[in-house]
Amino acid sequence: MYSTPDPHSITRLNARKRPAAALAAGVLALALLLLVAAQLHHAWSSYEARLAETRSATSNMARALAAQGEGSIRIVDTVLASVVERIENDPGGATSARLRGYLMDTVRTVPELHGLFVYGPDGSWIVSSLATPIQGNNSDREYFQHHLKNTDGRVHIGAPVKSKSTGVWILPVSRRLENADGSFAGVVLGTMRVDFFAELYDSFDVGQSGVIFLTLDDGTLVYRRPFNATLPGTKLNGPVFKLYRENGPVGSAMLRSKIDQVERLYSYRHLDTFPLIVGSAQSKDEILAEWYRSTGALAVGSLAAILFIGWLGKRLVGQIVLRDRLEHELSLAGTTLEAKNAELRTLASVDSLTGLANRRTLDAVLARELSRARRSGAPLSLIIVDVDYFKKFNDRYGHVAGDECLRMVGSLLLASLGRPADVAARYGGEEFAVLLPDTRKDGAIKIAERMRAGLVELGIDHADNPQGVVTLSGGVYTFDAARDASLTREGLIARADQRLYAAKQGGRNRIATDLTFPAEGPA
Ligand code: GH3
Ligand code: MG
Ligand code: MG
Repeated sequence: MYSTPDPHSITRLNARKRPAAALAAGVLALALLLLVAAQLHHAWSSYEARLAETRSATSNMARALAAQGEGSIRIVDTVLASVVERIENDPGGATSARLRGYLMDTVRTVPELHGLFVYGPDGSWIVSSLATPIQGNNSDREYFQHHLKNTDGRVHIGAPVKSKSTGVWILPVSRRLENADGSFAGVVLGTMRVDFFAELYDSFDVGQSGVIFLTLDDGTLVYRRPFNATLPGTKLNGPVFKLYRENGPVGSAMLRSKIDQVERLYSYRHLDTFPLIVGSAQSKDEILAEWYRSTGALAVGSLAAILFIGWLGKRLVGQIVLRDRLEHELSLAGTTLEAKNAELRTLASVDSLTGLANRRTLDAVLARELSRARRSGAPLSLIIVDVDYFKKFNDRYGHVAGDECLRMVGSLLLASLGRPADVAARYGGEEFAVLLPDTRKDGAIKIAERMRAGLVELGIDHADNPQGVVTLSGGVYTFDAARDASLTREGLIARADQRLYAAKQGGRNRIATDLTFPAEGPA
Protein backbone atom coordinates (compact mmCIF):
# COMPACT_ATOMS: atom_id res chain seq x y z
CA MET A 1 0.00 0.00 0.00
CA TYR A 2 1.20 3.48 -0.85
CA SER A 3 2.09 5.58 2.14
CA THR A 4 2.11 9.36 2.27
CA PRO A 5 5.73 10.68 2.20
CA ASP A 6 6.82 12.31 5.39
CA PRO A 7 7.11 16.05 4.66
CA HIS A 8 10.15 16.27 6.97
CA SER A 9 11.99 13.66 4.97
CA ILE A 10 11.24 15.62 1.79
CA THR A 11 12.73 18.77 3.31
CA ARG A 12 15.78 16.79 4.39
CA LEU A 13 16.13 15.34 0.90
CA ASN A 14 15.92 18.79 -0.68
CA ALA A 15 18.45 20.22 1.73
CA ARG A 16 20.82 17.44 0.72
CA LYS A 17 20.18 17.92 -2.97
CA ARG A 18 20.24 21.70 -3.14
CA PRO A 19 24.04 21.90 -2.59
CA ALA A 20 24.38 20.16 -5.98
CA ALA A 21 23.78 23.52 -7.66
CA ALA A 22 26.17 25.30 -5.30
CA LEU A 23 28.73 22.52 -5.75
CA ALA A 24 28.45 22.66 -9.54
CA ALA A 25 28.82 26.45 -9.45
CA GLY A 26 31.80 26.15 -7.09
CA VAL A 27 33.58 23.51 -9.14
CA LEU A 28 33.00 25.54 -12.27
CA ALA A 29 34.27 28.75 -10.70
CA LEU A 30 37.34 26.89 -9.44
CA ALA A 31 38.00 25.43 -12.88
CA LEU A 32 37.72 28.87 -14.47
CA LEU A 33 40.01 30.32 -11.81
CA LEU A 34 42.59 27.59 -12.46
CA LEU A 35 42.32 28.25 -16.18
CA VAL A 36 42.95 31.95 -15.68
CA ALA A 37 45.80 31.21 -13.26
CA ALA A 38 47.39 28.81 -15.75
CA GLN A 39 47.12 31.40 -18.52
CA LEU A 40 48.61 34.11 -16.34
CA HIS A 41 51.41 31.80 -15.27
CA HIS A 42 52.13 30.87 -18.85
CA ALA A 43 52.11 34.51 -19.96
CA TRP A 44 54.34 35.53 -17.07
CA SER A 45 56.88 32.74 -17.55
CA SER A 46 57.11 33.26 -21.32
CA TYR A 47 57.59 37.00 -20.65
CA GLU A 48 60.41 36.21 -18.23
CA ALA A 49 61.94 33.67 -20.63
CA ARG A 50 61.89 36.16 -23.49
CA LEU A 51 63.65 38.79 -21.38
CA ALA A 52 66.19 36.26 -20.08
CA GLU A 53 66.97 35.17 -23.65
CA THR A 54 67.50 38.74 -24.74
CA ARG A 55 69.56 39.53 -21.68
CA SER A 56 71.91 36.69 -22.50
CA ALA A 57 72.05 37.77 -26.17
CA THR A 58 72.90 41.40 -25.34
CA SER A 59 75.43 40.30 -22.68
CA ASN A 60 77.16 38.01 -25.17
CA MET A 61 77.22 40.81 -27.69
CA ALA A 62 78.72 43.20 -25.14
CA ARG A 63 81.40 40.63 -24.34
CA ALA A 64 82.26 40.16 -28.01
CA LEU A 65 82.35 43.93 -28.59
CA ALA A 66 84.57 44.42 -25.56
CA ALA A 67 87.02 41.74 -26.71
CA GLN A 68 87.16 43.31 -30.15
CA GLY A 69 87.65 46.85 -28.76
CA GLU A 70 90.34 45.62 -26.42
CA GLY A 71 92.23 43.96 -29.30
CA SER A 72 92.00 46.99 -31.61
CA ILE A 73 93.21 49.45 -29.01
CA ARG A 74 96.00 47.11 -27.92
CA ILE A 75 97.31 47.06 -31.50
CA VAL A 76 97.30 50.86 -31.57
CA ASP A 77 98.95 51.01 -28.15
CA THR A 78 101.62 48.56 -29.23
CA VAL A 79 102.40 50.78 -32.22
CA LEU A 80 102.56 53.84 -29.92
CA ALA A 81 104.85 52.02 -27.51
CA SER A 82 107.22 51.09 -30.32
CA VAL A 83 107.28 54.72 -31.60
CA VAL A 84 108.02 55.98 -28.07
CA GLU A 85 110.78 53.43 -27.72
CA ARG A 86 112.35 54.46 -31.06
CA ILE A 87 112.32 58.19 -30.21
CA GLU A 88 113.50 57.82 -26.62
CA ASN A 89 116.39 55.59 -27.63
CA ASP A 90 117.34 57.81 -30.55
CA PRO A 91 116.73 61.41 -29.45
CA GLY A 92 117.57 62.84 -32.91
CA GLY A 93 115.42 60.21 -34.54
CA ALA A 94 112.21 62.10 -33.91
CA THR A 95 112.80 64.26 -36.89
CA SER A 96 114.32 61.59 -39.12
CA ALA A 97 112.82 60.67 -42.47
CA ARG A 98 113.18 57.07 -41.36
CA LEU A 99 110.69 57.59 -38.54
CA ARG A 100 108.27 59.35 -40.86
CA GLY A 101 108.43 56.42 -43.26
CA TYR A 102 107.78 54.04 -40.38
CA LEU A 103 104.71 56.05 -39.30
CA MET A 104 103.32 56.16 -42.85
CA ASP A 105 103.90 52.42 -43.36
CA THR A 106 102.27 51.56 -40.08
CA VAL A 107 99.13 53.63 -40.74
CA ARG A 108 98.84 51.99 -44.15
CA THR A 109 99.05 48.47 -42.78
CA VAL A 110 97.07 48.85 -39.52
CA PRO A 111 93.42 49.44 -40.47
CA GLU A 112 92.44 50.69 -36.99
CA LEU A 113 94.81 53.62 -37.33
CA HIS A 114 93.80 56.89 -38.88
CA GLY A 115 97.08 58.66 -38.26
CA LEU A 116 100.22 58.77 -36.13
CA PHE A 117 101.61 62.08 -34.83
CA VAL A 118 104.58 63.16 -32.74
CA TYR A 119 104.45 66.50 -30.90
CA GLY A 120 107.28 68.29 -29.21
CA PRO A 121 107.23 69.49 -25.58
CA ASP A 122 105.59 72.75 -26.67
CA GLY A 123 102.85 71.03 -28.66
CA SER A 124 104.30 71.71 -32.07
CA TRP A 125 104.04 69.08 -34.80
CA ILE A 126 107.33 67.25 -35.25
CA VAL A 127 106.45 64.34 -37.47
CA SER A 128 103.28 62.58 -38.68
CA SER A 129 102.06 59.92 -41.00
CA LEU A 130 100.45 62.51 -43.23
CA ALA A 131 101.67 62.72 -46.83
CA THR A 132 101.92 66.53 -46.67
CA PRO A 133 103.39 67.71 -43.41
CA ILE A 134 101.35 70.38 -41.63
CA GLN A 135 102.69 73.11 -39.40
CA GLY A 136 100.64 73.44 -36.26
CA ASN A 137 100.40 73.30 -32.55
CA ASN A 138 98.29 70.84 -30.56
CA SER A 139 99.21 71.97 -27.08
CA ASP A 140 95.56 72.93 -26.57
CA ARG A 141 94.39 69.33 -26.96
CA GLU A 142 93.20 67.55 -23.84
CA TYR A 143 95.55 64.56 -24.33
CA PHE A 144 98.54 66.92 -24.61
CA GLN A 145 97.64 68.59 -21.35
CA HIS A 146 97.11 65.14 -19.77
CA HIS A 147 100.60 63.88 -20.62
CA LEU A 148 102.18 67.19 -19.69
CA LYS A 149 100.84 66.71 -16.18
CA ASN A 150 100.93 62.89 -15.81
CA THR A 151 104.23 61.11 -15.53
CA ASP A 152 102.78 57.61 -15.16
CA GLY A 153 103.70 56.73 -18.76
CA ARG A 154 100.39 54.94 -19.30
CA VAL A 155 98.41 55.04 -22.49
CA HIS A 156 95.74 57.74 -22.58
CA ILE A 157 92.49 57.59 -24.49
CA GLY A 158 90.88 60.97 -25.02
CA ALA A 159 87.46 62.20 -25.94
CA PRO A 160 86.70 61.79 -29.65
CA VAL A 161 87.43 64.87 -31.71
CA LYS A 162 87.07 65.95 -35.29
CA SER A 163 90.48 65.63 -36.94
CA LYS A 164 92.20 68.93 -37.67
CA SER A 165 93.86 67.27 -40.62
CA THR A 166 90.98 65.31 -42.24
CA GLY A 167 87.75 66.44 -40.57
CA VAL A 168 86.68 62.88 -39.65
CA TRP A 169 85.76 61.77 -36.11
CA ILE A 170 88.77 60.23 -34.44
CA LEU A 171 89.59 58.69 -31.10
CA PRO A 172 92.95 59.95 -29.77
CA VAL A 173 95.18 57.31 -28.14
CA SER A 174 98.42 58.74 -26.83
CA ARG A 175 101.59 58.19 -24.84
CA ARG A 176 104.07 60.58 -23.16
CA LEU A 177 107.55 61.13 -24.50
CA GLU A 178 110.28 61.70 -21.94
CA ASN A 179 113.85 62.80 -22.02
CA ALA A 180 116.49 60.63 -20.37
CA ASP A 181 116.11 62.71 -17.20
CA GLY A 182 112.36 62.00 -17.11
CA SER A 183 111.31 65.48 -18.18
CA PHE A 184 108.47 65.96 -20.63
CA ALA A 185 109.57 65.59 -24.22
CA GLY A 186 106.26 65.60 -26.04
CA VAL A 187 103.44 63.25 -27.01
CA VAL A 188 102.99 60.38 -29.48
CA LEU A 189 99.42 60.25 -30.73
CA GLY A 190 97.67 57.53 -32.62
CA THR A 191 94.22 58.37 -33.89
CA MET A 192 91.67 55.67 -34.43
CA ARG A 193 88.91 56.21 -36.94
CA VAL A 194 85.59 56.20 -35.16
CA ASP A 195 83.98 54.79 -38.27
CA PHE A 196 86.24 51.76 -37.82
CA PHE A 197 83.98 50.91 -34.88
CA ALA A 198 80.91 51.97 -36.87
CA GLU A 199 81.57 49.41 -39.62
CA LEU A 200 82.00 46.69 -37.08
CA TYR A 201 79.00 47.64 -34.95
CA ASP A 202 76.70 47.99 -37.90
CA SER A 203 77.28 44.35 -38.74
CA PHE A 204 75.54 43.27 -35.51
CA ASP A 205 71.81 42.70 -35.45
CA VAL A 206 70.10 44.54 -32.61
CA GLY A 207 66.73 45.02 -34.33
CA GLN A 208 65.12 48.20 -35.60
CA SER A 209 65.49 50.25 -32.46
CA GLY A 210 68.41 48.50 -30.78
CA VAL A 211 71.54 50.34 -29.74
CA ILE A 212 75.28 49.62 -29.62
CA PHE A 213 77.56 52.14 -27.97
CA LEU A 214 81.17 52.73 -27.09
CA THR A 215 82.03 55.32 -24.45
CA LEU A 216 84.89 56.37 -22.27
CA ASP A 217 84.32 55.26 -18.72
CA ASP A 218 83.56 58.85 -17.72
CA GLY A 219 80.52 58.65 -20.00
CA THR A 220 81.91 60.49 -23.01
CA LEU A 221 80.39 58.98 -26.12
CA VAL A 222 82.73 57.62 -28.79
CA TYR A 223 80.26 55.95 -31.08
CA ARG A 224 76.63 55.09 -30.92
CA ARG A 225 74.62 53.12 -33.37
CA PRO A 226 72.33 54.50 -34.75
CA PHE A 227 74.85 57.22 -35.55
CA ASN A 228 74.09 60.82 -34.75
CA ALA A 229 76.84 63.30 -35.78
CA THR A 230 76.07 65.59 -32.85
CA LEU A 231 76.64 62.91 -30.23
CA PRO A 232 80.33 61.85 -30.32
CA GLY A 233 82.30 63.66 -27.67
CA THR A 234 79.27 64.52 -25.55
CA LYS A 235 79.15 63.29 -22.03
CA LEU A 236 76.26 60.94 -21.41
CA ASN A 237 75.10 60.64 -17.89
CA GLY A 238 72.13 58.41 -18.42
CA PRO A 239 70.86 55.44 -16.46
CA VAL A 240 73.48 53.07 -17.90
CA PHE A 241 76.27 55.06 -16.26
CA LYS A 242 74.39 55.27 -13.03
CA LEU A 243 74.11 51.47 -13.15
CA TYR A 244 77.81 51.19 -14.03
CA ARG A 245 78.80 53.34 -11.06
CA GLU A 246 76.61 51.25 -8.75
CA ASN A 247 77.09 47.78 -10.23
CA GLY A 248 80.64 47.68 -11.50
CA PRO A 249 82.21 46.55 -14.76
CA VAL A 250 79.47 44.22 -16.03
CA GLY A 251 75.75 44.71 -15.88
CA SER A 252 72.36 44.37 -17.46
CA ALA A 253 69.03 46.12 -16.88
CA MET A 254 65.85 47.40 -18.43
CA LEU A 255 66.37 51.17 -18.71
CA ARG A 256 64.87 54.14 -20.47
CA SER A 257 67.33 55.94 -22.75
CA LYS A 258 68.08 59.55 -21.97
CA ILE A 259 68.76 60.18 -25.65
CA ASP A 260 65.57 58.91 -27.31
CA GLN A 261 63.35 57.94 -24.35
CA VAL A 262 63.07 54.35 -25.62
CA GLU A 263 62.95 51.62 -22.99
CA ARG A 264 65.58 49.00 -23.69
CA LEU A 265 67.25 45.99 -22.15
CA TYR A 266 70.87 47.19 -21.80
CA SER A 267 73.96 45.06 -21.26
CA TYR A 268 77.28 46.84 -20.80
CA ARG A 269 80.86 45.80 -20.11
CA HIS A 270 83.97 47.72 -19.13
CA LEU A 271 87.06 46.81 -21.15
CA ASP A 272 89.65 44.90 -19.12
CA THR A 273 92.65 47.16 -19.71
CA PHE A 274 91.34 50.34 -21.27
CA PRO A 275 89.00 52.96 -19.80
CA LEU A 276 86.18 52.18 -22.19
CA ILE A 277 82.71 50.76 -21.90
CA VAL A 278 80.80 48.97 -24.64
CA GLY A 279 77.15 48.13 -24.54
CA SER A 280 74.33 46.72 -26.56
CA ALA A 281 70.61 47.06 -26.05
CA GLN A 282 67.37 45.95 -27.62
CA SER A 283 64.13 47.80 -27.30
CA LYS A 284 61.59 46.29 -24.95
CA ASP A 285 58.82 46.69 -27.51
CA GLU A 286 60.78 44.76 -30.10
CA ILE A 287 61.86 42.06 -27.69
CA LEU A 288 58.28 41.55 -26.59
CA ALA A 289 56.51 42.21 -29.91
CA GLU A 290 56.01 38.52 -30.57
CA TRP A 291 55.10 37.93 -26.92
CA TYR A 292 52.51 40.73 -27.06
CA ARG A 293 51.06 39.19 -30.23
CA SER A 294 50.87 35.61 -29.00
CA THR A 295 49.77 36.55 -25.48
CA GLY A 296 47.13 38.87 -26.89
CA ALA A 297 45.81 36.13 -29.16
CA LEU A 298 45.91 33.67 -26.27
CA ALA A 299 44.12 36.14 -23.99
CA VAL A 300 41.37 36.72 -26.55
CA GLY A 301 41.01 32.97 -27.08
CA SER A 302 41.01 32.25 -23.36
CA LEU A 303 38.53 35.01 -22.67
CA ALA A 304 36.21 33.58 -25.31
CA ALA A 305 36.64 30.09 -23.82
CA ILE A 306 36.05 31.39 -20.29
CA LEU A 307 32.95 33.31 -21.36
CA PHE A 308 31.64 30.26 -23.18
CA ILE A 309 32.34 27.90 -20.28
CA GLY A 310 30.89 30.45 -17.87
CA TRP A 311 27.77 30.73 -20.00
CA LEU A 312 27.44 26.94 -20.24
CA GLY A 313 28.03 26.63 -16.50
CA LYS A 314 25.42 29.26 -15.74
CA ARG A 315 22.94 27.36 -17.87
CA LEU A 316 23.90 24.07 -16.24
CA VAL A 317 23.51 25.47 -12.73
CA GLY A 318 20.26 27.09 -13.85
CA GLN A 319 19.03 23.69 -15.05
CA ILE A 320 20.00 22.06 -11.78
CA VAL A 321 18.20 24.75 -9.81
CA LEU A 322 15.17 24.49 -12.08
CA ARG A 323 15.13 20.72 -11.81
CA ASP A 324 15.45 20.94 -8.04
CA ARG A 325 12.58 23.39 -7.92
CA LEU A 326 10.43 21.26 -10.20
CA GLU A 327 11.17 18.18 -8.15
CA HIS A 328 10.43 20.10 -5.00
CA GLU A 329 7.15 21.39 -6.39
CA LEU A 330 6.33 17.98 -7.74
CA SER A 331 6.93 16.35 -4.40
CA LEU A 332 4.87 19.06 -2.71
CA ALA A 333 2.11 18.46 -5.24
CA GLY A 334 2.50 14.72 -4.61
CA THR A 335 2.18 15.28 -0.89
CA THR A 336 -0.88 17.47 -1.32
CA LEU A 337 -2.40 14.97 -3.72
CA GLU A 338 -1.73 12.14 -1.35
CA ALA A 339 -3.35 14.07 1.50
CA LYS A 340 -6.36 14.77 -0.71
CA ASN A 341 -6.52 11.13 -1.69
CA ALA A 342 -6.39 10.10 1.94
CA GLU A 343 -9.18 12.56 2.65
CA LEU A 344 -11.19 11.13 -0.19
CA ARG A 345 -10.49 7.60 0.97
CA THR A 346 -11.68 8.59 4.43
CA LEU A 347 -14.76 10.27 2.96
CA ALA A 348 -15.46 7.17 0.94
CA SER A 349 -15.00 4.83 3.86
CA VAL A 350 -16.62 6.78 6.70
CA ASP A 351 -20.23 7.57 7.45
CA SER A 352 -20.58 11.32 7.57
CA LEU A 353 -23.26 11.44 10.24
CA THR A 354 -21.75 9.22 12.90
CA GLY A 355 -18.08 9.03 11.91
CA LEU A 356 -18.28 5.21 11.99
CA ALA A 357 -17.17 3.05 9.10
CA ASN A 358 -19.77 3.03 6.31
CA ARG A 359 -21.31 0.06 4.69
CA ARG A 360 -18.72 -0.08 1.92
CA THR A 361 -15.94 -0.36 4.50
CA LEU A 362 -17.85 -2.90 6.46
CA ASP A 363 -18.30 -5.05 3.37
CA ALA A 364 -14.55 -4.92 2.66
CA VAL A 365 -13.52 -5.63 6.25
CA LEU A 366 -16.10 -8.35 6.53
CA ALA A 367 -14.83 -10.10 3.39
CA ARG A 368 -11.25 -9.90 4.64
CA GLU A 369 -12.05 -11.09 8.16
CA LEU A 370 -14.28 -13.86 6.91
CA SER A 371 -11.58 -15.36 4.73
CA ARG A 372 -9.07 -14.95 7.52
CA ALA A 373 -11.37 -16.74 9.96
CA ARG A 374 -11.94 -19.43 7.38
CA ARG A 375 -8.14 -19.92 7.05
CA SER A 376 -7.28 -19.69 10.72
CA GLY A 377 -10.33 -21.38 12.16
CA ALA A 378 -10.72 -18.48 14.60
CA PRO A 379 -14.29 -17.38 15.47
CA LEU A 380 -15.74 -14.22 13.91
CA SER A 381 -18.78 -12.56 15.48
CA LEU A 382 -21.17 -10.12 13.85
CA ILE A 383 -23.74 -8.03 15.75
CA ILE A 384 -26.45 -6.13 13.91
CA VAL A 385 -28.43 -3.61 15.97
CA ASP A 386 -31.43 -1.49 15.05
CA VAL A 387 -32.96 1.40 16.97
CA ASP A 388 -36.46 0.60 18.16
CA TYR A 389 -39.46 2.65 17.08
CA PHE A 390 -37.24 5.08 15.36
CA LYS A 391 -39.77 6.17 12.82
CA LYS A 392 -41.90 7.32 15.67
CA PHE A 393 -38.97 9.10 17.27
CA ASN A 394 -38.47 11.06 14.07
CA ASP A 395 -42.14 11.76 13.80
CA ARG A 396 -42.37 13.09 17.32
CA TYR A 397 -39.04 14.86 17.83
CA GLY A 398 -38.10 15.71 14.32
CA HIS A 399 -35.45 14.60 11.92
CA VAL A 400 -32.70 16.77 13.42
CA ALA A 401 -33.23 15.19 16.83
CA GLY A 402 -33.31 11.82 15.07
CA ASP A 403 -29.90 12.52 13.55
CA GLU A 404 -28.52 13.59 16.93
CA CYS A 405 -29.88 10.37 18.43
CA LEU A 406 -28.15 8.29 15.74
CA ARG A 407 -24.86 10.11 16.47
CA MET A 408 -25.19 9.24 20.14
CA VAL A 409 -25.92 5.61 19.33
CA GLY A 410 -22.85 5.56 17.05
CA SER A 411 -20.61 6.94 19.81
CA LEU A 412 -22.03 4.44 22.26
CA LEU A 413 -21.30 1.50 19.95
CA LEU A 414 -17.77 2.70 19.38
CA ALA A 415 -17.16 3.14 23.09
CA SER A 416 -18.37 -0.41 23.72
CA LEU A 417 -15.62 -1.97 21.59
CA GLY A 418 -12.61 -3.51 23.32
CA ARG A 419 -10.01 -4.30 20.69
CA PRO A 420 -8.34 -2.39 17.85
CA ALA A 421 -9.50 -4.97 15.32
CA ASP A 422 -13.20 -4.49 16.30
CA VAL A 423 -15.17 -2.47 13.75
CA ALA A 424 -18.45 -0.58 14.22
CA ALA A 425 -20.25 0.54 11.06
CA ARG A 426 -23.44 2.30 10.13
CA TYR A 427 -25.11 -0.30 8.05
CA GLY A 428 -28.33 1.43 6.99
CA GLY A 429 -30.64 4.22 8.24
CA GLU A 430 -30.81 3.40 11.95
CA GLU A 431 -29.15 0.02 11.65
CA PHE A 432 -25.56 -0.65 12.78
CA ALA A 433 -23.20 -3.59 12.38
CA VAL A 434 -20.37 -4.48 14.73
CA LEU A 435 -17.71 -6.93 13.57
CA LEU A 436 -15.63 -8.66 16.22
CA PRO A 437 -12.75 -10.76 14.84
CA ASP A 438 -11.38 -13.55 17.02
CA THR A 439 -14.38 -13.24 19.31
CA ARG A 440 -16.48 -16.16 20.44
CA LYS A 441 -20.25 -16.04 20.77
CA ASP A 442 -20.29 -15.42 24.52
CA GLY A 443 -17.87 -12.49 24.15
CA ALA A 444 -20.00 -11.03 21.36
CA ILE A 445 -23.18 -11.36 23.43
CA LYS A 446 -21.44 -9.56 26.26
CA ILE A 447 -20.56 -6.66 24.03
CA ALA A 448 -24.01 -6.53 22.43
CA GLU A 449 -25.63 -6.53 25.83
CA ARG A 450 -23.26 -3.78 26.95
CA MET A 451 -24.50 -1.69 24.02
CA ARG A 452 -28.13 -2.33 24.68
CA ALA A 453 -27.85 -1.56 28.40
CA GLY A 454 -25.67 1.46 27.67
CA LEU A 455 -28.35 2.98 25.47
CA VAL A 456 -31.05 2.49 28.07
CA GLU A 457 -28.74 4.10 30.56
CA LEU A 458 -28.22 7.06 28.23
CA GLY A 459 -31.92 7.71 28.76
CA ILE A 460 -32.81 9.53 25.55
CA ASP A 461 -36.49 10.40 25.95
CA HIS A 462 -38.78 8.53 23.60
CA ALA A 463 -42.43 8.88 24.53
CA ASP A 464 -43.52 6.42 21.88
CA ASN A 465 -41.29 3.64 23.19
CA PRO A 466 -42.90 1.55 25.93
CA GLN A 467 -39.57 1.90 27.79
CA GLY A 468 -39.87 5.70 27.70
CA VAL A 469 -36.33 5.98 26.36
CA VAL A 470 -34.61 5.10 23.12
CA THR A 471 -33.69 1.42 22.99
CA LEU A 472 -32.13 -0.94 20.50
CA SER A 473 -32.49 -4.56 19.48
CA GLY A 474 -29.59 -6.72 18.33
CA GLY A 475 -28.90 -10.02 16.57
CA VAL A 476 -25.64 -11.87 17.13
CA TYR A 477 -24.15 -14.58 14.95
CA THR A 478 -20.72 -16.12 15.39
CA PHE A 479 -19.04 -17.68 12.41
CA ASP A 480 -17.47 -21.07 13.04
CA ALA A 481 -15.17 -22.28 10.26
CA ALA A 482 -15.90 -25.94 10.91
CA ARG A 483 -19.65 -25.48 10.92
CA ASP A 484 -20.09 -22.65 8.41
CA ALA A 485 -17.55 -23.71 5.77
CA SER A 486 -19.71 -22.51 2.88
CA LEU A 487 -21.18 -19.44 4.57
CA THR A 488 -20.76 -16.26 2.48
CA ARG A 489 -20.56 -12.67 3.60
CA GLU A 490 -24.20 -12.13 2.67
CA GLY A 491 -25.09 -15.34 4.46
CA LEU A 492 -23.37 -14.17 7.61
CA ILE A 493 -25.21 -10.84 7.53
CA ALA A 494 -28.50 -12.61 6.88
CA ARG A 495 -27.95 -14.88 9.90
CA ALA A 496 -27.32 -11.91 12.16
CA ASP A 497 -30.25 -10.08 10.61
CA GLN A 498 -32.57 -13.01 11.26
CA ARG A 499 -31.58 -12.93 14.93
CA LEU A 500 -32.22 -9.19 14.98
CA TYR A 501 -35.65 -9.89 13.60
CA ALA A 502 -36.18 -12.45 16.36
CA ALA A 503 -35.21 -9.81 18.93
CA LYS A 504 -37.74 -7.39 17.45
CA GLN A 505 -40.37 -10.08 17.48
CA GLY A 506 -39.47 -10.93 21.04
CA GLY A 507 -40.46 -7.40 22.09
CA ARG A 508 -37.44 -5.19 21.26
CA ASN A 509 -34.79 -3.81 23.63
CA ARG A 510 -33.07 -7.21 23.61
CA ILE A 511 -30.29 -9.25 22.01
CA ALA A 512 -31.04 -12.45 20.13
CA THR A 513 -28.50 -15.18 19.46
CA ASP A 514 -30.82 -17.66 17.80
CA LEU A 515 -34.08 -17.70 16.00
CA THR A 516 -36.24 -18.04 19.10
CA PHE A 517 -37.56 -14.90 20.67
CA PRO A 518 -35.28 -13.94 23.50
CA ALA A 519 -36.34 -12.38 26.76
CA GLU A 520 -35.37 -8.81 27.66
CA GLY A 521 -32.04 -8.43 29.40
CA PRO A 522 -28.87 -10.48 29.09
CA ALA A 523 -29.36 -13.43 26.69
P1 GH3 B 1 -38.62 -0.95 14.56
O1 GH3 B 1 -38.69 -0.85 16.03
O2 GH3 B 1 -39.40 -2.09 14.01
O3 GH3 B 1 -37.25 -0.94 14.06
O4 GH3 B 1 -39.36 0.34 14.09
P2 GH3 B 1 -38.76 1.49 13.30
O5 GH3 B 1 -39.68 2.61 13.25
O6 GH3 B 1 -37.42 1.79 13.90
O7 GH3 B 1 -38.55 0.81 11.94
P3 GH3 B 1 -38.49 1.33 10.43
O8 GH3 B 1 -37.42 0.57 9.76
O9 GH3 B 1 -39.89 1.15 9.88
O10 GH3 B 1 -38.16 2.79 10.51
C1 GH3 B 1 -36.87 3.28 10.38
C2 GH3 B 1 -36.92 4.75 10.41
O11 GH3 B 1 -35.67 5.33 10.71
C3 GH3 B 1 -37.28 5.37 9.07
C4 GH3 B 1 -36.71 6.71 9.10
O12 GH3 B 1 -37.69 7.65 9.48
C5 GH3 B 1 -35.68 6.62 10.20
N1 GH3 B 1 -34.40 6.93 9.65
C6 GH3 B 1 -33.65 6.13 8.82
N2 GH3 B 1 -32.46 6.76 8.55
C7 GH3 B 1 -32.47 7.94 9.23
C8 GH3 B 1 -31.57 9.01 9.36
O13 GH3 B 1 -30.51 9.02 8.80
N3 GH3 B 1 -31.90 10.04 10.18
C9 GH3 B 1 -33.09 10.10 10.81
N4 GH3 B 1 -33.40 11.12 11.59
N5 GH3 B 1 -33.97 9.12 10.70
C10 GH3 B 1 -33.68 8.05 9.93
MG1 MG C 1 -34.80 -0.37 10.73
MG1 MG D 1 -35.82 0.48 13.90
